[in-house]
Order: sequence, then C-alpha cells, then structure tokens
Amino acid sequence: MTEHAVVIAGGGPTGMMLAAELALARVDVAVVERRPDHTLAGSRAGGLLTRTIEELDQRGVADRFLAEGQTHQAMPFGTVMLDMSDLPTRHPYFLGIFQNQIERIMAAWIAELPVRIYYGSEVKGFAQDGAGVDVELSDDRSLRAGYLVGCDGGGSLIRKAAGIEFPGWDPTRSNLIAEVEMTEEPPQGVRHDASGIHALSKMEDGRTIRVVVTERQIGPSGEPTLRDLGEALITVYGTDFGIHNPTWISRFTDMTRQAATYREGRVLLAGDSAHVHYPAGGQGLSLGVQDAVNLGWKLAQVVNGTSPESLLDTYQDERHPVVARVLQHTMALGTLQRQDERMKALVEMTSELASMDEPRRRLVGIRSGLDIHHDFGEGHPLLGRRMPDLDLVTADGPLRVFELLHDARPLLLNLGQPGDLDITPWADRVRLVDASYEGDWELPVLGVVSAPIAALIRPDGYVAWVGDGTPVGLLGALATWFGPASAS
Ligand SMILES: Cc1cc2nc3c(=O)[nH]c(=O)nc-3n(C[C@H](O)[C@H](O)[C@H](O)COP(=O)(O)OP(=O)(O)OC[C@H]3O[C@@H](n4cnc5c(N)ncnc54)[C@H](O)[C@@H]3O)c2cc1C
Repeated sequence: MTEHAVVIAGGGPTGMMLAAELALARVDVAVVERRPDHTLAGSRAGGLLTRTIEELDQRGVADRFLAEGQTHQAMPFGTVMLDMSDLPTRHPYFLGIFQNQIERIMAAWIAELPVRIYYGSEVKGFAQDGAGVDVELSDDRSLRAGYLVGCDGGGSLIRKAAGIEFPGWDPTRSNLIAEVEMTEEPPQGVRHDASGIHALSKMEDGRTIRVVVTERQIGPSGEPTLRDLGEALITVYGTDFGIHNPTWISRFTDMTRQAATYREGRVLLAGDSAHVHYPAGGQGLSLGVQDAVNLGWKLAQVVNGTSPESLLDTYQDERHPVVARVLQHTMALGTLQRQDERMKALVEMTSELASMDEPRRRLVGIRSGLDIHHDFGEGHPLLGRRMPDLDLVTADGPLRVFELLHDARPLLLNLGQPGDLDITPWADRVRLVDASYEGDWELPVLGVVSAPIAALIRPDGYVAWVGDGTPVGLLGALATWFGPASAS
C-alpha cells in the first residue's frame, strides 16, 4: 500500500491549490483525480475575485492568470455596475478567465512542485482509524494517508461517506449552460424576466456562443440534451437560433448548502464539497481556492508535528462564517435576477441604494473577499484582516510584502527599530524581516488606519498579531499559530 502524508480526493481548482500549499510546506501530498488529465469539458466558472488573485500573488503565480484574463473594474449589482477601482489593492478588479484556463494554469504550476497525481482514478471509499486513513481507489489500489481531504465537488463522496450533514436550501430554479454554434445571429448580452437571467455571448473563436438560460421549471438531474436547450431558448427568445454542434451542455441550480462541519477526525472538506450555491457573483471557484489557502499551512504544521491537531479547528472557525455570509449574498443576488414588474421596482430601489458610496464600498468589500475579518480578539483593525501588499524597503532592497510570502512561511514584519524583536525560539519556522514603509495604511471598507509598528503574518496572508512598539502578546501569538517554542 502506497503511503502519503495527505491524500486529496479531487483535482479541481480547490484540490490543486491545496496540493500546491502542502507541497510548498514540504508535505508528501497526493491528488486522486477521476479525469484522465486536467482537461475540463466546457468553460464553467468565469473568473477570479480580488482576494483570490491576491492569494495567487502571495505565491508568485498571479501573473500567469493575469496574462490570460481580462480585468473588469466594476461588478454588476441589479441594474448598476459598482465601481471597484478604488479598492486599496494591486488588483482592484474581477479577472475574467474561464475555469478550463484556470485549471490548465494550475496544473502546470503544480507540475513544477513535488505533488503526486493519480489521474484517471476515483476514490471509492475510506476507513479512518486513530493513526490514519485507508483510501480505496477505483482501480483496486489503496492508499494510506495521515489525512484525507475531500475536494471532490458538490456531490462529494467524501462528505457523504464521512456522514457529514449538508444543511441548506433546496433548489428553486435551474439554468442550462452551454457552448454551441448557431445558424442565426443571436442578440448578445444579458436579459432578465420573471424566471431569472438569460445570457448569450460570443466566445473568443468568434463562432461558439456561450448560452445561459433559466428554465421555466427545475430540470431533472442527469445530463441535459440539445433538445432541452432548444426548448428553453424558444421559451425565452421565441427561437432556438438554429443551435447545433454543442461542445458542452450542463445544468446548475440555486441549491445552497454548507457542510455542518468541515472536519470529521482525519477527514476534511474544502471547496464545493463543503459548500454549494448559485453562481451569481462568480464566487464558487474563488471560495474553494481561499479554503485551500486557509487550510494548507495549518494541515502542513499538524502533519509536520509543529502544531497540535486543534489548529485544524480554526479552519472551520474561520472559513465557515466567511462562506455562510457569501452564501447569503449569492441568494440575494440570485433573487434580484428574477424580475417580474414588482421585483423590478425592488431591483431599482436596491440598485440606487447600492450606488451610494458607503453601501457600494461594503458590497464591493464582500464580493472582492477583501472584507474578510477573522475574530482574533480586540486590537488594531489589521488584526485578523489580510495584510496589504505594501512596498517595503529592506536590507535586501525594495520588496513587496507578498514577495516575502512566496514560500508560504510565516512572516514577522518589523517596521520599528531594526533588531527590536527577538523570536529566536521560532527562528526555524518564522521569518523575521526588518523593513520600513512610507505611506498610508488603507484597509478595504475601513479606510485609513494608524500605522502598526510590527505585524505577524500567517502564510495565508492574515495578520495574527499587531505590534505597537512593544512585544506584548507576540510570544503567545507565535505559540498559538506556529507551535511551541523550540528548546535551544
Ligand atoms: C455549470 C457550472 C457553472 C458555474 N459557473 C461558475 C461561475 O461563473 N463562477 C464561479 O466562481 N463558479 C462557477 N461554478 C462553480 C465552480 O465551477 C465551482 O465552484 C468550482 O469548480 C469548485 O471547485 P472544486 O475544486 O471545489 O470542485 P470541482 O471543480 O467540482 O472539482 C472536483 C474534482 O473532483 C473530481 N472528483 C469528483 N469525485 C471524485 C472522486 N470520488 N475521486 C476522485 N476525483 C473525484 C472531479 O473530477 C473534479 O475534478 C459553476 C459550476 C457549474 C457546474
């Protein structure tokens, strides 16, 4: 039986990001992926949100995605576009890039890292004991892992087999999504009616049309056909535009559910296996990547023996409420898409309110993921929030904060007197950098805050301790997040 410290079931965006995080932390990780390679049928998700782009930037790979996508500095809300250009980040935009491109780029990245991938193989079941998990594969092989992470999508076998409840809301509508050719020239753009949203757009090849159409009734489970698509188009547009040559037809619903727990012993969930929702706002893929970045370094520290298993509980404590809030947001956005005459009045009213500066900043904060605030107790506003990517001056010359996070290690940034902070007992785990920074400290949604003197930054970019010129609380934060002091 082959052994790995961590086995990930599912090599979609979440599984690949988690594999990268674990490999960077020198954990022996393997991914089991049902598909024969990373190729995806259809384009699927349409982009990346700001915080997710930042997280890729923290690992030095954001440019690979930016090179293939289109940036949009405004996001749709009801009848208006909300400006994002004043977000205090290097990436004040939504990056339009299809999931099949995202997965190709991610697969190329993890091919550069020590990640073992079992393509064309499916996890069929598992049994966990006090020391590990036996993972049964479809080809009669089995793997032994310290931990098993289910990144196996919304229908997650791992979640079901672990007996984890998936409470939430049943679907109230379904959409067909497809890539087809049409003999008639279709009207491009988005249309709303009482059933929901419909959209037709020409893809890059100039021939294929990407279709999203809301069905009049919730469609059956199982693969939709060209005929289903034609009927749905006729109902909305009065014609099927002569659809032919489909390369992809799929169905999604507004079912909204979230796993009751993200961990059952040595089995964890991330991405769609932990939460599903209507794709309004284009947030699903980004949420999964963020889950992976939150979980990766914690799981690595537990596997490497530097932190107790209880560190894993903070994954659920932090990500469950963040995702629950996004799920509420997607339900609201989805509801605003259903526009009968009365709903139109509500959409107009909320759109007008959303255009005002304070509501706009809050909504953009949620949608970008930049308003995430983990509750680490009282303190400076930066505590529990993501560290901004400041331009620093260091002994090694000018550096961005995110460049200091490329190796996914914790960072103590001392912006006070060089040599003021001593973390010798953690020097094997935490990098200490003396630096200076000239400029404002502007945080998303909050605005300008007072300049901290030091910040302890976790590998995921969230600030675990803020210094005001004294080391009060630093040793406690180091032990909480990065394990007990080494005896020297
Ligand atoms: C039609 C459609 C349209 C969407 N549109 C958008 C959008 O516009 N914006 C957006 O952000 N999101 C959108 N989403 C959601 C987005 O695609 C998902 O949120 C995202 O793919 C989640 O990534 P994941 O890695 O968690 O799961 P998945 O991408 O589902 O990956 C799961 C992986 O696990 C593999 N797998 C499953 N079971 C097993 C098993 N037992 N053993 C081994 N491998 C297994 C699968 O082959 C797959 O590769 C859409 C989804 C669908 C279906």
